[in-house]
Amino acid sequence: MIYLDHAATAPVPRAVADAMYEVLTAHCGNPSSQYSLGLDMKKRVESWRETVAAALDCPARNLYFTSCGTEGDNWALRAAAWQNRRMGTHIVTTAVEHSAVLETCRQLEQEGWEVTYLSPDREGNLSAAQVLEAVRPDTAAVSVMLVNNELGTVYPLEAIAQGLPARNPKTLLHTDAVQGLTVFPLGKLGADFVTVSAHKIGGPKGIGALYLGPRVRNPRPLLAGGGQEHGLRAGTEATAQIAGFAKAAELRLAHRNEDQAHLTALKAYAETVLLALPDVVRVGSGAASHILSISLAGWPSQNIVNDLDSQGICVSAGSACHQGKPSHVIAALKLPKRTAAGVIRLSFGPETTEAEIDACARALRRHHDQRMPML
Ligand code: PLP
Repeated sequence: MIYLDHAATAPVPRAVADAMYEVLTAHCGNPSSQYSLGLDMKKRVESWRETVAAALDCPARNLYFTSCGTEGDNWALRAAAWQNRRMGTHIVTTAVEHSAVLETCRQLEQEGWEVTYLSPDREGNLSAAQVLEAVRPDTAAVSVMLVNNELGTVYPLEAIAQGLPARNPKTLLHTDAVQGLTVFPLGKLGADFVTVSAHKIGGPKGIGALYLGPRVRNPRPLLAGGGQEHGLRAGTEATAQIAGFAKAAELRLAHRNEDQAHLTALKAYAETVLLALPDVVRVGSGAASHILSISLAGWPSQNIVNDLDSQGICVSAGSACHQGKPSHVIAALKLPKRTAAGVIRLSFGPETTEAEIDACARALRRHHDQRMPML
C-alpha cells in the first residue's frame, strides 16, 4: 500500500504501540489513587506531559490532555468566549478552519454570539492585517489555524499575536495547530490557546492536548467532574494514549531536522512530477512541507480517490473529515468549477519515498487517459 494521507492520520510506529502496550499490561494504576500504584502512574503522566510539552516548546504546567484535537478546539473557543463574555460577544475566525472550530462557532451563534468568518484569497492566503482589521472593541476571541489541513497554508500567527493588543488588549487568541505539531514552536507563537492532537504525528487516535497561556484566567472546563488536570478537564487520564502521545512526540523531536529536510525535498519533487502531468494544477500556495493540494481539473475527485484506492494508493479528496461532502475549504477559494471538482490532497510523512510519488503520478496519468472528465 502507498499511503499519501498523513494529514488525515499518521501510521503508528512500533515503539509507540509498545509504549502503550506496556502501560496497558504492566501499569494499571489510576493517577488519582493515593497508594503507590496510583502515585507511580501520576508521576509517569507528569513525565509524559513534559515530553509532549517539549514538542510544543512550552512549560508542562501549561499543557492539559484532552481526548482529541476536536475537544481542544471546542474547549478553547468556549473558554475564551466565557472569559470575555462581559466585554463582548464577537468572535473572528476564518472560513477555512477545521469543522471542530466552525461548528463550535455555529453553536455559539445559536447562543447569541456574532462570528465574522474571514475569506482567504484564491491561493488560500490570509494576511495578519486582514485578521486584525476585523477585531473590534467587543471581540472576545480570535481563532485562526496555524496550518490548513487541506491546503498546507501556514497562517501568520506570530504577526496576529503581535498586532492583537493594539486592536484590543483583552481579545484572546486561539490557534488550531494540529497540523503544525513538532514543526513550529507552538508555545512561543503568542497564542493564548493552542490545540494539538497525537494521531497526526504517529501517536494513537483519541488523545490530544490544549496549551493554556498565562492570559487565560480560571478557564471554564468543557467536561465537569473529578479534579483531574488541575480541575480543568475531568475524566480519568487516558494513560496508555498519553504514553503513546509522548513516545510519538519523542520520536518526531529526535528526527525533526532530518524529517523536515526530507519532507521539503519530497514536496518539491512531488510538485515537479505531478504538475508536469496534463491538466494537473496546484491548488493554493501552501508552504507546509507535508501537504500538497492539486487538482486534475475536470476529473471528479472522488472518482480519482476511488481509482487510486483500487490500485493501493491512499490520497484524500479534500479533508477526510468531510466524508465525501464538498469541502468548505475548497469552496472558500472560489476556484473555477472544473478545478474545484478535481482537488485531491497528498500528504507525506517521514517514511514517504520518491518512488511512491512516481507510482501516484503514473496512476493519475492513467486516470486522466482512461476516465472521462466531467462535462
Ligand atoms: N484540526 C485540524 C487542522 C485537523 O486536521 C484535525 C484532524 O483532522 C482536527 C483539528 C481534529 O483532530 P482530532 O481528529 O484529533 O479530533
